[in-house]
Amino acid sequence: MTSSKATRANAATTLLLLPVLPLLVFYLWYCLAFNRGELALPSLDMMRQFPLPTWRSIAIISGWLVVQVLLQLYIPGKRAEGPPLPDGSRLSYKMNGWVAWWLTWAVLAAGAALKLYSPAELADQFGALLVTATFFAFALSLYLYWHGRHFATAHERITNNPIYDFWLGTALNPRVGDFDLKLFFEARPGLIAWVVLDVALAARQFQLNGYFSLSMILVCVFQFLYVTDYFAHEEAILSTWDIRHENFGWMLCWGNVVWVPFTYTIQAQFLVNQAAALPWWQVTAIIGLNVAGYVIFRGANMQKHRFRKAPDRSVWGKPAAYVRTSGGSLLLMSGWWGLARHMNYLGDLLMALAWCLTCGFVSPLPYFYVVYLTILLVHRERRDHDMCSRRYGKDWDMYCDKVRYRIIPGLY
Ligand code: NDP
Repeated sequence: MTSSKATRANAATTLLLLPVLPLLVFYLWYCLAFNRGELALPSLDMMRQFPLPTWRSIAIISGWLVVQVLLQLYIPGKRAEGPPLPDGSRLSYKMNGWVAWWLTWAVLAAGAALKLYSPAELADQFGALLVTATFFAFALSLYLYWHGRHFATAHERITNNPIYDFWLGTALNPRVGDFDLKLFFEARPGLIAWVVLDVALAARQFQLNGYFSLSMILVCVFQFLYVTDYFAHEEAILSTWDIRHENFGWMLCWGNVVWVPFTYTIQAQFLVNQAAALPWWQVTAIIGLNVAGYVIFRGANMQKHRFRKAPDRSVWGKPAAYVRTSGGSLLLMSGWWGLARHMNYLGDLLMALAWCLTCGFVSPLPYFYVVYLTILLVHRERRDHDMCSRRYGKDWDMYCDKVRYRIIPGLY
């Protein structure tokens, strides 16, 4: 297929996905909130339950965004250098997420203690918030498209197909002054909102039943720790693929603003109305799985990040083995990166499975998350492989010969 034909085919797919993905999020919410967590066939009731924005949801989302922007702008943080850009320069980023994360919780806790709001209210507004966030993500993506077309530099990767460019974005690092839109939306409003919604759903469970179920506590704690860990290692995001290579368009924008908070809460949404009773051995196995996943996920990501900053550091007590590419980049072959080419994905998947298992086996719906993440990461690994193959040529082939497995050592 020629590249223009491929672009047209991709544009046709994305044109379909632009309405289908938001409808999928609504569908999942409908099944969880109105159909006891069971899959449902399209019906009149489903159409009737389609939420609209409310003044309250608009106020909550606007207030949330303003607070997160202010935290990003005004809390001090150390500066970190981003990855090299095609012209050799590097952008500087302010890393203040750790303080912003805890400050957000302090403000929310104080507000709840002073009875300024009820945590369960966010759960009541879930549908309206979902639709409001969706409108916001589309509006922001239009702005990003315009911004990229006007301010893009010569090295931005665009196709000139408006639909595909709207989807993928027209600029690698759109900024307003010093404010980096991609870094901000990758992490702050959506990632924090994910855990805030978890807690709101737990509060709703308490309101309904007078207790928090063990499954709900596990899910909230696991996901709270996952996001806390992200902020503890915030700088590591600078060596991820999204920051290094992905333009900031609808895909990342909607993904971070809507998909993450409103579908990654799927287990908590399910557990509001279901108290899966877990025997102690299942609880132990689930905690063990989550810890194992975390060790691999964080270990692999940090190994790569530290290696890229200081290639002379030892890995697992030995000098790091690596391939030096003709362009100068180094590909690590020690530690986790010697077992498979994306052990970090394996760790993420193990944690995802642990979260789903907290919901027991009453319904397949909570397992949507691990199935989706598997598809995403397998597809992502393929895309990354193709890009690295183009970027590094025979050096990449040599690396793949040495590290043969993609994600699961010995299997895949
Ligand atoms: P990676 O952090 O693995 O980044 C891939 C890039 O790393 C490649 O493009 C290449 O870029 C570089 N690289 C590849 N192999 C090597 C090597 N051997 N040594 C050094 N550098 C190498 O992937 P992602 O950015 O996709 O993911 C980061 C984390 O985020 C993962 O843990 C993933 O699970 C998680 N994630 C989670 C999602 C979720 O929704 N839960 C979604 C997406 C990601 P280059 O050489 O140009 O630097």
